[in-house]
Amino acid sequence: MPWTAKAPLSRGIRGRCPQCGKGKLFRGFLKLASCCDVCGLDYGFADPADGPAFFAMTAMSFPVVGLALWFDAAYAPPWWVHLVTTLPLLIVLCALPLRPLKGWLVCSQYFYKAEEGRLAVTNTSSDGDAGGFDREDGRHRNK
Ligand SMILES: [Zn+2]
Repeated sequence: MPWTAKAPLSRGIRGRCPQCGKGKLFRGFLKLASCCDVCGLDYGFADPADGPAFFAMTAMSFPVVGLALWFDAAYAPPWWVHLVTTLPLLIVLCALPLRPLKGWLVCSQYFYKAEEGRLAVTNTSSDGDAGGFDREDGRHRNK
């Protein structure tokens, strides 16, 4: 499969390697493998942090809370009924999309080369050696 913008989404939701699209991305439900078992890509770059949980909770909370409000207004059940219906529904619907979301975020991270931001210092002088930050070691230097 040629590398296209659709690749991070299709490979990620299937839990496949972002580089080759064949190797497994996960070792467990949400635990990432250390590297691709087909092409050997090291998954050390992958750090989606709380992204999958944020997207899952944001997407699922509105319909489930809406359903709970409708259920409460229509039938006025005691509070413990919500505890055994709404809460498990919310937990299951938030947990199910975690894996495809995490795969999509990791593949997007690889595809777009996302990494922590760094200071970019440009040298604007004509002789090319005015004071400023040394790009090699990041220390400030004077002329
Ligand atoms: Zn691979």
